[in-house]
Amino acid sequence: MKVLVLGAGVIGTTSAYFLAKQGHDVTVIDRQNSVAMETSHSNAGQLSYAFSSPWASPGLSLSLIKWALTGNSPLVINPNISIKTAKFMYRMFKNCNPTSYEMNKGRMLRVANYSQKCLLELEKEIDIHYEQRKQGSLQLFWSSKELEKVKHDISILEKFNIQYERLDVNGCIQVEPGLQHVKNKLAGGMRFKNDYTGNCYLFTNEIYKKCLEIGVKFEFNTHIESILLEKNKVSAIKTNKGELTSDSYSISLGSHSSKILANIGIDIPVYPVKGYSITLPVLEDKDAPQSTIMDDKNKIGITRLGDNIRVAGTAHLTDFNENLREKSLQSLKDGLNKIFPYAYKECNDIKFWTGFRPSTPDGTPIIGPTPYSNLYLNTGHGTFGWTMSVGSGKLLASLISGIESEISMEGIDMSRYNYANKTSLNYA
Ligand SMILES: Cc1cc2nc3c(=O)[nH]c(=O)nc-3n(C[C@H](O)[C@H](O)[C@H](O)COP(=O)(O)OP(=O)(O)OC[C@H]3O[C@@H](n4cnc5c(N)ncnc54)[C@H](O)[C@@H]3O)c2cc1C
Repeated sequence: MKVLVLGAGVIGTTSAYFLAKQGHDVTVIDRQNSVAMETSHSNAGQLSYAFSSPWASPGLSLSLIKWALTGNSPLVINPNISIKTAKFMYRMFKNCNPTSYEMNKGRMLRVANYSQKCLLELEKEIDIHYEQRKQGSLQLFWSSKELEKVKHDISILEKFNIQYERLDVNGCIQVEPGLQHVKNKLAGGMRFKNDYTGNCYLFTNEIYKKCLEIGVKFEFNTHIESILLEKNKVSAIKTNKGELTSDSYSISLGSHSSKILANIGIDIPVYPVKGYSITLPVLEDKDAPQSTIMDDKNKIGITRLGDNIRVAGTAHLTDFNENLREKSLQSLKDGLNKIFPYAYKECNDIKFWTGFRPSTPDGTPIIGPTPYSNLYLNTGHGTFGWTMSVGSGKLLASLISGIESEISMEGIDMSRYNYANKTSLNYA
């Protein structure tokens, strides 16, 4: 079967790989001149299988008030807020209750765990290098109150069989020796020893090369303008280079998925939550992070990628405004300084980047069919698209091939938003 994959981020590229492995004739289209040039380019590099959770949590409203009072908020909302932003926030707040949080986290963990299994299988199958490290991740706590708060999360982790270790301050320093300089400020940590780290841009490029080897075609510099329909099917994709036709079509346009789908009456709540990252060279190995450190209080993640440190954070609700915000640059530098005071030096080598997390209000991606019989979705991965990429690619490919998926698809497709009744979706 001919399949057209729209979007060559980490999600589209992994989808293309699995589709081709399952025997399809695959073409990927993207407006950029290469793969992973948008959100998949410089993310935090965390393969946070255990930590996959929605932003919409019961404590979010309280955190917002606290952040507003301290004036140092990781969530930034533009004062002239658009209807789209207001709608996204409203839907997100509707998910900030214990029942929704547990349900959403469960769904996210299901896709994330499956993704880890698929990545390990993939690494056995092909030789790929993407600055990967398998040294776990560490969530830091700065007060006994924070340690107490994590108890609810623990019950969910246990429910989903996620392995974790509670560490005291010395335990944290043992796994991340660079933390010794903040020993007196730390309260402890939680370690997820099965989490990984890796460079999403390098990974996507490695998969791209494998895709070429197995016959996938890539049409770069091709701008998708609209989806054309005939009866209840997609008949073609209109691009700046003309119309492209196929048997099946898969949408992995990241944050840009909703706009293109809205034109054919599919309303999915994928919103661009802007984030920022800085990348800077390691000065001294002993003072630098070895793996991933998550500072949930300040909502930043710090990751070791080869000879570099990547720091990422901020959720900026400003639609598709691509400006680099100086205040976020400063807060990422401050965040790194607070945790690894000797890892950072003001230098010209700091790369400042921004990207749009394709976020859903419930945190869960949207993978599955649509009411159009040959159109599929693989989008809305938000903060964890890199973590969930390999599993999502395989789920999408299985769906198109009519192979039963290896995990339950409950709550993963678009029917959870009630825009489409499950029976109207085209499950093969
Ligand atoms: C600051 C930050 C930190 C993050 N950290 C992590 C992390 O540590 N771990 C993790 O798991 N995830 C992380 N994420 C999230 C992760 O990066 C994303 O979920 C993931 O990259 C989304 O991949 P994608 O392929 O869906 O989107 P993209 O990578 O954005 O790909 C979409 C593609 O569609 C193309 N496209 C869009 N519109 C058109 C059009 N009209 N015509 C043609 N082509 C088009 C684009 O060019 C692009 O190549 C982070 C994100 C940010 C912003």
